[in-house]
Amino acid sequence: MLVPHEKIRQILSAYDKKKIKIATICSHTALQIFHGARLEGIKTIGITTQKRRKVYEAFPLGKPDKFIEVDDLREVPASELVDENAILIPHGSLVEYSGSKLEELAVPILGNRHSLLWEKDRKKMFEWLKAAGLQVPATIEPDKIDRPCIVKLPGAKGGRGYRVVHSSEEFYEKFGGMNVTVQEYLIGVRVYPHYFYSPLSKDGYRASEGKIELIGIDRRFESNIDEAYRTEQAGLSFTPSFTVVGNELLVIRESLLEDLLEMGKNLVEAADRLFGGIPGPFCLETICDENMQFFAFEVSARIVAGTNIYPLGSPYTAYLYPEPMSMGRRIAREIKLASKANKLQKIVY
Ligand code: AMP
Repeated sequence: MLVPHEKIRQILSAYDKKKIKIATICSHTALQIFHGARLEGIKTIGITTQKRRKVYEAFPLGKPDKFIEVDDLREVPASELVDENAILIPHGSLVEYSGSKLEELAVPILGNRHSLLWEKDRKKMFEWLKAAGLQVPATIEPDKIDRPCIVKLPGAKGGRGYRVVHSSEEFYEKFGGMNVTVQEYLIGVRVYPHYFYSPLSKDGYRASEGKIELIGIDRRFESNIDEAYRTEQAGLSFTPSFTVVGNELLVIRESLLEDLLEMGKNLVEAADRLFGGIPGPFCLETICDENMQFFAFEVSARIVAGTNIYPLGSPYTAYLYPEPMSMGRRIAREIKLASKANKLQKIVY
């Protein structure tokens, strides 16, 4: 159950706007979030276990100003954060660890928490992608597998346990009785654009009541599929797996930028219609095929780990900002601008 919007509005209106802090759990993109907030002059809070704290202390410019230690990262100390005037920044680990508890947290969260519900349910997520007019891979019924398909386990598992199957027989042998999604296997280059939607300014690529910025693009390294040629060269056979290990920077043909910007704009406008919008960072996972057509198979309405590649700016932020701009810093900048304009209610829920 989502915490009522009105409750978050009340909490936020009681905040001292001059002392807003940024909080997140120490994982995923936390170094970048703390680093970016520091550059924007905003104080930060890191929720951590005692063991993990030393990792963040090892990076003086990326560590939070204050740690709150918890026994388990699934426990977000909401009332302590409210006492601190904090806005919580959701990232992949926070979404995965907290699960549905995140929806219930009585603390202002950057973005719109309705998106959490649309993101975690694959059917709803595809409804959103389709409402935005994006091309998506076909979802195939297990007893109608007539082409190579990728089988996905539920939840934000980072590709863990995914397998490719070629027939219904193979599917039932490997996944019979399991709650999985079967998708057409797309062939092409993976392109994962990172966007920021701001309802505060129209100065840029217009979307909804504001603008979107293309902050960067990544591609992932997934084990063991992304080094498959080495395995094959060594004459070994292997079962492809898709677990994310890391990310690398991608710059695409300049003539494809229009497609990426349009996809971002359409996602924002579809989110408006379906569940009230997605202020802040979001990312799309796509495959660009040999005909330069993009097919989208995942959307995340939050900061993604691929943005960790450019803490001092990307090949795209170079044309948006004269100063080094990471996604973490862009988040802090938006909070600062919204706070000054008395518009924080527009960007958190
Ligand atoms: P996801 O959990 O949807 O982010 O997928 C994890 C990884 O599986 C992606 O980064 C891709 O490498 C791969 N993948 C997911 N969906 C497809 C698809 N329909 N076709 C080909 N590869 C896919």
